[in-house]
Amino acid sequence: MVAAMDIKVTRIERSKLNDVSLENLPFGKYFTDHMLEAEYENGKWTNVEIKPYQPLVLDPSLAALHYGQSIFEGIKAYKDADGEAFIFRPYDNFKRFNTSAQRMNMPEVPEEIFIEGMRQLIALDKNWIPNKKDHSLYIRPFMFATDQILGVRPSETYKFLIILSPTGPYFPKPMNILVEERYTRAAPGGVGFAKNAGNYGGSMLAATKAQQQGYDQVLWTDAFEHKWLQEVGMMNVFFVIDNVALTPSLEEETILHGVTRNSVITILQEMGVKVEERRIHIDEVVNAHIEGKLQEVFGTGTAATIAMIQKLKYKDYVMEFNEANWALSSKVKANMDAIKERKVADTHGWLLSI
Ligand SMILES: *Cc1c(COP(=O)(O)O)cnc(C)c1O
Repeated sequence: MVAAMDIKVTRIERSKLNDVSLENLPFGKYFTDHMLEAEYENGKWTNVEIKPYQPLVLDPSLAALHYGQSIFEGIKAYKDADGEAFIFRPYDNFKRFNTSAQRMNMPEVPEEIFIEGMRQLIALDKNWIPNKKDHSLYIRPFMFATDQILGVRPSETYKFLIILSPTGPYFPKPMNILVEERYTRAAPGGVGFAKNAGNYGGSMLAATKAQQQGYDQVLWTDAFEHKWLQEVGMMNVFFVIDNVALTPSLEEETILHGVTRNSVITILQEMGVKVEERRIHIDEVVNAHIEGKLQEVFGTGTAATIAMIQKLKYKDYVMEFNEANWALSSKVKANMDAIKERKVADTHGWLLSI
């Protein structure tokens, strides 16, 4: 544990919680009373502050807006039946945040700001954590370049913020997915493994075009052949073939190192399911479907936890999956929920108490 650093706290006068219902919450629409803000200048982090949630005043020449040095994280906090609050695996997000920072040529954020600051902020806004099934407090840490100059070079100043949003289920319905053969999300040597804002910006056209054809999202493929599978939308992807769970391996740096992906692999292995992390070719998936061996396809990510896929289309070939066969993904979700709801022991040390 790192000693709590000196964080200036300014409390809101009247909580907005009086005006918001924590029932039927859309994802990321409402924000809590407070936010954390810190500034990086002259090679160090200063002015670490928790204050009322409020707009930022930014110069039009702000470096992040022009050249895209902007990264973020997504984490969730839960409340158990006794009203105790926990954050799910924040140290993994903390490490990944600094990996993203390195790749985008941005400064690292120290643990006493990222983790301790987050804990203090959540403690202050603890009443905002919903304790309904599939609801949580979504935590959004982010950092962006703040130099006010149009010259192209790494910014020398940055802002780091944490905002909090009480939220309900992200993908209530199973998804229809199109295998993407034209656009590319990530290539070796690129920034696909970093959680930077531009990855999302670059992905939106493909998703919109898929939606025009009646699909929800795309299954990303490699940049060279458009055959090797990467991720589904902004989630990691799993295939269950002949009772073995397959997920693309991380070594090419084209895939985000999902915390949910890692949790799902751990839980599957504990359930006695064989997991293979390796390259996966679309033909392998199609052939497995033709042979009747493709049982389940699902996406994993903090926002959705596990998102079932009911339909997957590659060229003219449509694969459909029946809810009745989603045994494995449902079991993994139930086991993960049991840990988050503290119905079973947290044997992996995944929960950080507020
Ligand atoms: C955030 C993200 C994920 C999911 O990561 P989690 O740590 O499980 O939330 C997967 N893919 C992409 C591209 C992402 O940005």
